Amino acid sequence: MKVAVPREVAAGERRVALIPAEVQKLAKLGVEVAMQAGAGATCFHTDEAYRAAGATVVEDKGGLLAEANLLLKVQPPTLEEVDALPEGAAVVSLFQPLESRELLARYTARHLSGFALEYIPRTTLAQAMDVLSSQATVAGYKAVLMAADRLPQFFPMLMTAAGMIQPATCLVIGAGVAGLQAIATARRLGAVVEVSDVRKAAKEEALSLGATFLEVDAEVDAATTGGYAKEVSEAYKQKQQALLAAHAQRANLIITTALIFGRPAPKIVSEAMVAGMAPGSVIVDLAAERGGNCTLTVPGEEVERHGVRIVGYTDLPSRLAVHASQMWSRNMLNLLKHLTHDGAFKFDLHDEITRGCLITHGGEVVQESVSAALAGEA
Ligand code: NAD
Repeated sequence: MKVAVPREVAAGERRVALIPAEVQKLAKLGVEVAMQAGAGATCFHTDEAYRAAGATVVEDKGGLLAEANLLLKVQPPTLEEVDALPEGAAVVSLFQPLESRELLARYTARHLSGFALEYIPRTTLAQAMDVLSSQATVAGYKAVLMAADRLPQFFPMLMTAAGMIQPATCLVIGAGVAGLQAIATARRLGAVVEVSDVRKAAKEEALSLGATFLEVDAEVDAATTGGYAKEVSEAYKQKQQALLAAHAQRANLIITTALIFGRPAPKIVSEAMVAGMAPGSVIVDLAAERGGNCTLTVPGEEVERHGVRIVGYTDLPSRLAVHASQMWSRNMLNLLKHLTHDGAFKFDLHDEITRGCLITHGGEVVQESVSAALAGEA
């Protein structure tokens, strides 16, 4: 089986889907890897390092894709990349099938086996293949560092000859994978951390990291069996808003990460809350890609409103490209171990992980929730 890894073409994308360490491990599984020349350059992996690990390095992208059984990428392929693949090949990348209808149609027309990495089930078994988790870890860490860099004050408490410095207070909204890493990072830097989440399980995790959990006075646990949160009621939202408004006023920085699977990001930080914060405070909105948890967030940009800096960048993992790629690459190795046998694809359409993330196969949409969503529209 031949895996092709082209250079990422999306603007600002610095990650690569495979690093040399995993090329070597794939070779032991009987999987051949061909890299487009320069594919690893944005995260400092040279063509020479890929060759030494057993990959072939190809200058001509058309030739690379025409020979591939599997196209491996971080970002969804372009239509041109899809068209360059042999009919019936596989694609493993982010996909967003319901938002990228043209791509979806092209996958079925060309009988591609199209995997969407964001659909990998959130189960213990699949955790080692889960790019949402690995990249959320990176984003949570980077969000706090970006906030620290913009904040015109220290994070830790300091006792100095020039007087005592009070520690920064950090409010983290949403304590999933990214939020927990943000809490841990802010704590390491010495901030006092307060946390809000709608899942009850998040409380214990936040406390174990030395944060305070802000409890909404309501008997609600918004956790689904899949581990995600579901939408909370209007009454709950109002109680949460009142609680958070009081704490936002005292916070020097807010990191927001709250998401509901398949929905726009819930609006939690209102303009009034922002206006109530001290000038010079910082908000990093990790939900920006899905519209943002703060009503004033501008996705992809950094703005200042009411004297508060609001960071809405959507490419935080790419800004830490070396380790983000290392983690992505390990996720890919684990996924390919799961999907192959003796160096060839072996799809088990009844397997939970394959069923979860294989969107198209044999000219049809085969993923249950995607085909249900499409049928609902018809
Ligand atoms: P996510 O990115 O979907 O959401 C981030 C957090 O926002 C979640 O903790 C969610 O509860 C919270 N949230 C949603 N609405 C909110 C609101 N209105 N106010 C405050 N918080 C709100 O979540 P995630 O990072 O993917 O993780 C969710 C859970 O799934 C966690 O318990 C995590 O440990 C678990 N998980 C398990 C696996 C696995 O086993 N493979 C993988 C990833 C995550």
